[in-house]
Amino acid sequence: MTERKRIYLCLAHMSENGMEQKYIKEAFDTNWVVPLGPNVNGFEEDLRQFVIHNEQCEIIPELEQKEVVALSSGTAAVHLALIACGVGPGDEVIVQSFTFCASSHPITYLGAMPVFVDSEKDSWNMDPELMELAIKDRIEKTGKKPKAIVPVALYGMPYYIDRIMEIANRYDIPVIEDAAEGFGSRFNGQVLGTFGDYGVLSFNGNKMITTSGGGALICPDKDSWQKVMWLATQAREAYPYYQHEAIGYNYRMSNICAGIGRGQMTVVNDHIARHREIAKMYKEAFASVDGIAFHDELPGMESNFWLNTITLDEHLHVKGEENAYAQAVKGAVGGAAGVVHAGGTLHTDCEPNRNVEAMRVGLDKLGIEARPLWKPMHKQPVYKNAPAYVNGVSESLFKVGLCLPSGPCVTDEDVNFIIDSVKGMID
Ligand SMILES: *Cc1c(COP(=O)(O)O)cnc(C)c1O
Repeated sequence: MTERKRIYLCLAHMSENGMEQKYIKEAFDTNWVVPLGPNVNGFEEDLRQFVIHNEQCEIIPELEQKEVVALSSGTAAVHLALIACGVGPGDEVIVQSFTFCASSHPITYLGAMPVFVDSEKDSWNMDPELMELAIKDRIEKTGKKPKAIVPVALYGMPYYIDRIMEIANRYDIPVIEDAAEGFGSRFNGQVLGTFGDYGVLSFNGNKMITTSGGGALICPDKDSWQKVMWLATQAREAYPYYQHEAIGYNYRMSNICAGIGRGQMTVVNDHIARHREIAKMYKEAFASVDGIAFHDELPGMESNFWLNTITLDEHLHVKGEENAYAQAVKGAVGGAAGVVHAGGTLHTDCEPNRNVEAMRVGLDKLGIEARPLWKPMHKQPVYKNAPAYVNGVSESLFKVGLCLPSGPCVTDEDVNFIIDSVKGMID
């Protein structure tokens, strides 16, 4: 019997036609092995075209002014967007608590304070009502408005951007959409990242498309694009020698990485379609399973289903749950990230339920990578001093949720094996 290949959560997947290598070869052949060049410009234009069109391939007129800067990471894109919105020391920024740390960490790089806002239970993203309450309360407590609002398309699921924009506009606070996980997801047909002032994309190795590592910032117009570009290239002034009147960053994308990105843009729609196909298979399969719920998209929203997620009822009994957490985890969950501190304890004060951990471990033994949902930032020790406006939604989802393998590297046979394995582990 041949051994089954391990099924990963979401892996990079190159185009069948080798376009990535063609663009990289071109860069080598023409000696553009630098953090600028034809691939970077080409990739930015591909991204711009992608985000300003609706699904019928028509340009959305209000989006024609948008411009895109390709950067070394999505985290860099968040950082530059915050600077572009004027965030500095002592400022506050409202950010979705249910997210990956890259949404909030750059706020602290600037000496500003994140103000975490919890999610609503339908999209799992920023709760607009709670967001408004947070704005009012911050103004009352500090006498100042928050400098920006950062909603996040968690696992690719769109947020209620219509309500978020309405409130943000009423208080005149800029919105930075963190669409790092939501590349190609749509709200009323319009791509996420184009509603707010700025839109963050990520092309890390595990995202919807990859440049190995990289990101981009969607800017509202040519002026802001120019400012972001200037900040991303060490803020140089126009003199024959290096003249600096502001602090800049070395955040521009390399022409080699952008070559991969251009190749990936030829298959981005196929990738999204595959993620959505897999979502349909999970959804249908788990509809008939008591105690398991598939996290589906809402009317008017179209998720890229970057990661497909399920929740397990706390009363669902999973084989081996008595032994869950008996052993400390070695290495990082999602160990690709490199250096990890050794975990000091078996438990923290906020962790997934035992049945979820047992399901994760059981699937792991069968060669299937599953992962808990992202632990809310307001429950992270590093943010214990940050103000938080919570309703319990993200914390309770974190305790019951699990991400399942998704994307073009996952075959139909894999999906069926995952579904059977999940069902088989229910006692
Ligand atoms: C991946 C990610 C980012 C940052 O992207 P990098 O390219 O890895 O720096 C930002 N926000 C969220 C929600 C992400 O998942």
